Amino acid sequence: MFEKKKIYIMGMARSGYEVAKLLAPFQNEILITDGKEQEKSKVEELEKLGIKIVITEKQEDYLDDTFDLVIKNPGIRFDTPCIKKAEMLGIKIINEVELAYHFLPKNTHIIAVTGSNGKTTTTTLIYEFLKQMNAPVHLGGNIGFPMSSLISKVKEGDYIVLEISAQQLHDMYDFKTEVSVLTNLTPVHIDFFGSYEYYQEMKKKIFMNHTLSDLAIINLDDEAEMLLTENISSNKTFFSTKRNATAYCKENAIYYGDEKIIDIKDIRIKGMHNYQNIMCAIIATKRFGIPNDAIRTVLSRFVGVEHRLEFVANIKGREFYNDSKATNVKSTEIAIHSFDKAIILLLGGLDRGHSFQDLADDMRYVKHVVCYGETKNRIKEFCDSINKDVTVVETLKEAVKVAYNLSEEEEVILLSPACASWDQYESFEKRGEDFKQIVETLK
Ligand code: ADP
Repeated sequence: MFEKKKIYIMGMARSGYEVAKLLAPFQNEILITDGKEQEKSKVEELEKLGIKIVITEKQEDYLDDTFDLVIKNPGIRFDTPCIKKAEMLGIKIINEVELAYHFLPKNTHIIAVTGSNGKTTTTTLIYEFLKQMNAPVHLGGNIGFPMSSLISKVKEGDYIVLEISAQQLHDMYDFKTEVSVLTNLTPVHIDFFGSYEYYQEMKKKIFMNHTLSDLAIINLDDEAEMLLTENISSNKTFFSTKRNATAYCKENAIYYGDEKIIDIKDIRIKGMHNYQNIMCAIIATKRFGIPNDAIRTVLSRFVGVEHRLEFVANIKGREFYNDSKATNVKSTEIAIHSFDKAIILLLGGLDRGHSFQDLADDMRYVKHVVCYGETKNRIKEFCDSINKDVTVVETLKEAVKVAYNLSEEEEVILLSPACASWDQYESFEKRGEDFKQIVETLK
């Protein structure tokens, strides 16, 4: 299907690089274009395989009707001149996941996760559950390992767990899973998709090509999602934190049908949102016969994906959590609601002029705020306006020290900054790593 073709790869990055390597041995004529300079060693490696690479801002100038296929990086908008030109020329446009799908061995169990929030956590949990039951499992997709890079490792009958974004779903057609999860829907990425409706339609494609023998895992508590999935042709299963469903929360435990799977107290990661992610992972892996003790083993040690409400340490009865990924107020709200203990909250970072007012109602669970970074003075004003105790410092390091000195046993010290990191850090990952190192010095 992808042999002796002329293929245009738009956007190199990691996925373009991997897909080019996948296609090279099949006598394809391959051109990669990108607007940005790429890593020299990778460029050289691809050139040795006979692949042509052009760095240009005018990617459309290199496309003509002699090409059979365009493979588009998911981050590139679908209304860029090059994509418009491909459409005009009637060239098929797909992405790397769609292409790699065609290279998978028969009978691969494909499990894919999408949704507005919770994708990485849910994908990771499913992967960990399957690993715990000794299934031959591979992890990929949006989570950092392009599917093309897995193809040489996947054998017949293996499991593959994929995190899939709406941007990826946009250019997928034949792709079909055995199990698809849609965690939830909120209006995000509207600037990319143009409307919430279009974004939702893309998310719905996670269930495309399903028949009744394929599983859909749906959030019963999410009205938009229930509506969207009304007419899909999958075998529908549901999870809920409120009502009876395939998996649900009841009396501080998680159930699958009539079976109690685990008490909430035995789960390391916290918060209703995480119990939802866990329920998705339980339904997905029950399909493959996971024993309950495997689920319990994973959940008793899984401390979360790094930087997402990640448990860091317990020092003299104080629990430290790293939620550096919380770069907006909504995520911080979710984090605050994940604890039933007093919280000392570390807030601050890049000032985008955003309001902290939405946190006002949640602050009753917070004993003290320590704020730092570019937003520190605005956070102080906000705390003063609601009579919340607050200390202003310059850096995260000082903030951790102040928080520790103010804390008592049985309290939580939570970094959930509600701001991007770029005033003082290169990325939220670097900020989270710094936080963990600072905590380490307190031991
Ligand atoms: P994604 O991969 O979709 O960005 P993550 O698993 O990385 O999701 O979680 C990112 C943040 O989203 C978490 O720190 C938490 O604040 C929030 N979150 C995670 N799971 C859920 C969920 N099921 N519902 C709502 N918010 C969630």
